Amino acid sequence: MNPIPLVDESRLVNLVTNPTITAQRWAQRAACTGLRSAIHAYFPGDGDLPPVDALMCCFACPVATECLATALIHESQSGFRHGWWGGTSPEAREGIADRLCIETVPVEFDIRGPADLARHLRSQNRTIPSIAVELGCTERTVYRYLAQSAA
Ligand code: SF4
Repeated sequence: MNPIPLVDESRLVNLVTNPTITAQRWAQRAACTGLRSAIHAYFPGDGDLPPVDALMCCFACPVATECLATALIHESQSGFRHGWWGGTSPEAREGIADRLCIETVPVEFDIRGPADLARHLRSQNRTIPSIAVELGCTERTVYRYLAQSAA
């Protein structure tokens, strides 16, 4: 069962091949944020489904693709699929990864916080305003992050 029938596959591939996705704040917009016992709901026993209310959250979630991409990134690095992400089971993600030939870009830098991400984006010639949009902060804060990492 996959409660998300239509995944924008080209967007999914873009997210998976962009290693900065896991450092972004997409989880703040997750539909399951207010779900009671969300952690347990999405990690049922082998072969079991999450509760219906948890799956309905995924169906309506504005960041389901980001959630799915994050799982695919981690799983390609760990080789281990567990739990439901983006409304998909481990088996469904195995099929998606195979079908789309998803290969992640090796993470050659250590992103531990917004300052690291700002530095990485700047190294890719991203403008200060676009970095501010991506991090959800002001341009002044981006300059502060870059100054920190240069110090
Ligand atoms: S898609 Fe992911 S973030 Fe969205 S409701 Fe489902 S588990 Fe939560």
